[in-house]
Order: sequence, then structure tokens, then C-alpha cells
Amino acid sequence: MKLAKRVSQLSSSPTMAVAAEAARLKAEGKEIIDFSVGEPDFNTPENIKLKAQDAITKNFTRYPPAAGISDLREAVRLKYKNAYGVDYSTAEVAISCGAKHTLFNLAFVLFEEGDEVLLPVPYWVTFPEQVKLVGATVVEVDTYEQDNFILRSGALKAKITPRTKAVIVNSPNNPTGAVVPPDEMERIVDLAVANNLLIIFDECYEYFVFDGNVHTSPVKFASKARHLSILVNTASKTYAMTGWRIGYLVAPKEIVKAVNDVQSHSANAASISQKAAVESILGAQDSVKLMISEYERRRKFVVHKLNSIRGLSCANPGGAFYAFPNVSQFFRGGIQDSIQFSSALLRQAGVAVVPGSAFGREGHVRISFATSMKNLEEGLDRMEKALAGM
Ligand code: PMP
Repeated sequence: MKLAKRVSQLSSSPTMAVAAEAARLKAEGKEIIDFSVGEPDFNTPENIKLKAQDAITKNFTRYPPAAGISDLREAVRLKYKNAYGVDYSTAEVAISCGAKHTLFNLAFVLFEEGDEVLLPVPYWVTFPEQVKLVGATVVEVDTYEQDNFILRSGALKAKITPRTKAVIVNSPNNPTGAVVPPDEMERIVDLAVANNLLIIFDECYEYFVFDGNVHTSPVKFASKARHLSILVNTASKTYAMTGWRIGYLVAPKEIVKAVNDVQSHSANAASISQKAAVESILGAQDSVKLMISEYERRRKFVVHKLNSIRGLSCANPGGAFYAFPNVSQFFRGGIQDSIQFSSALLRQAGVAVVPGSAFGREGHVRISFATSMKNLEEGLDRMEKALAGM
């Protein structure tokens, strides 16, 4: 079968590959502790589920508009109005089937051959694939462990060329947990304005910030950069709604219109999920607060424990629910990279992590703490024992 050229370089998500290997071992009866999965271990809050049941009962089950139902677009508009005082219109909001779909739509309507897109490393696995899929070029921008992986405007500036069209910023970051501080975000915004670059800002983990870090969205600088700011968000992480597939976009009208036109010929989000998402944004936020404090408790435990294991070091993640320890001290003998390290850990300790190379950064692995304290305690103990013999 001859497939289209554009998919020839596409690699299937490496995070999925680890999960598949762990699932295979589990099926063989091995007791695997899985730190590879990037989704909340909580259930969707009851108030949200009730609204979905209500939507079904009331037969809210027909085709929704391509842009999303008006009450969800209004809820998103209000969310940004209440949080930042910025008055978007619903014509600047589009609903999609998860942030991954939102980002795919953006790549599709914005990028083409010849365009360069700046991408900070380490990156979430999907970003570079989507840019390449539409024929554009990824230009990597380094961040450093010693600097807690914070994206610096100076590093971005050094990579700008006349072909640079956009920069993708993800804060809090998957996989490092890095949070771009307010002053650095303002410098990034100023750089974008000076060079007429779009900022695609993935703020999927916006509420998961710890240790006095503050989440800073480019919306904060809307007075100078609204025309260049593209906000990508999701119900998945904040409300433990990964399976409902609701993501959203706030962007200049012409971009939103293009996305909606594409969606009118491809796919758009389920009517029932959209009703539930309205409740997630406008309803009670108590369960979110509980989830945030639980992630904070786990993060403290995980980072402390990782740094106490001889040979490991772990930068402090300011947000999200991931730790990204440096494991390069164990690269010797049959273990020479993060894939070999992860597979040895899976075999010897029954602990699944994701190799750093999947995120563009060798020498590290990603550990998700979106799993119970019990799993974290046992998994990290197992890891400590296995590493003592490696
Ligand atoms: N952006 C980032 C940074 C993510 O980590 C993820 C999920 N792993 C997504 C987007 C996709 O989220 P969604 O479930 O809304 O598609």
C-alpha cells in the first residue's frame, strides 16, 4: 500500500509504545506500576457527569454547530473575562475534540511548507509531529535542567529567521513541569510582537502550579499581543475529563473562522460532552481544588524521593503532574540511552516510565504522578532497589 508522503515521517506516539509494553507485561500477569500515563487518575466530578446525563435525557443529542455550542463558547469567553478582564467575543472561541485536535486544526490552518515553527525542548510529543505533518519545519529551542527547564526569550530570539511564523509555548510544561515566570512571559510576548510571531500557548495544566509559581498566560498582555495570541486549553486535565474529548481555542477571529470551516468538513465535539464542559467551567470548582492539593502532596513526595536516590537528580517541577529526572548516571554497559534505561526499569522493577528521547531530551525519563500515593511509594521503592544494582 502506498501511503501519502506526508505520513511517511510520522512516528506513532512513543508514550503509547511504553504503555503498550507495560500492558503486555500486565497481561502476562506481571504486576506493573505505571508512571507513564499522562492523564488524571481521578474520576470526572459528579456535578459534571449529571449535566451529561441531563443532556441525554433532554435529547440534546443532535449535530452541534461546527464551532461548538453557543453556551460552551460563552462559558469559555466568561472564563477569560473573569480571570483576566479581557473581553473576547464568542467569534474568537472554537470548541474541538480535545486540545490535541485544537492544535492539529491550528497547524492545518496556519502552517505550510517553508514556515518555521519554534519549539522549546523538551516538548510534548505531539507538537513536532503536527508541525511536520503539514509540511512545515520545526526549529528546536533549548531549555536547561540547571534553569529548571524554563523557556527563555533570549534562546527564542537566537532562532528567529525571516521564515519564523510562530512559537509554541507550553506552560506548565509536559514533560518537565516548568512554569514560565511572568517577567519572562512578558519578554516572550514582546519578542513575538517585535517579530510579528504567533504565540500558540498551550495552557492545559494552567491550574496545576505549585510552590508559589504563578501561571502566566499571554492573555495577561492582551493589550499589546491579543492579535498574536492563540490560547489552547482543555477540560481533560483540570476536570479529569480525558475521555470526553473537549478542547478549546481562543484566537483572532480569522483563525477561529478557518478552524470552524475545517471542522465543518471534518469532526467536531460531541453535544453531550459539550454540555458537561459548560458545567466544568461555570459550576462548582471544589473538586478541582482537591485534585490540585493532592497533586501538590504527590509532587513533594516524588521529587524528594527521586533526589534521595543515588545517581538520580530531579529539577523541581513548578507545575503540571510530571517529574523529569536525569538518569544519565546509569548510562553504562548495556544501558546507553533513555529507551534502554526505561526498558531495563520495566523488566527489572516492573515500573513503566517514558524515555526522555520521546520529548526530544536524552538523559531523562518522565514520571507521571497522576497516580495514587500508594503506587508512587511502591514504584519509587522498587525503582530505588533496582537502580542500586544497575
Ligand atoms: N497539550 C499537552 C501539553 C498535553 O500534555 C496534552 C495531553 N497529554 C494535550 C495537549 C492534549 O489534551 P487533550 O486531552 O485535550 O487532547
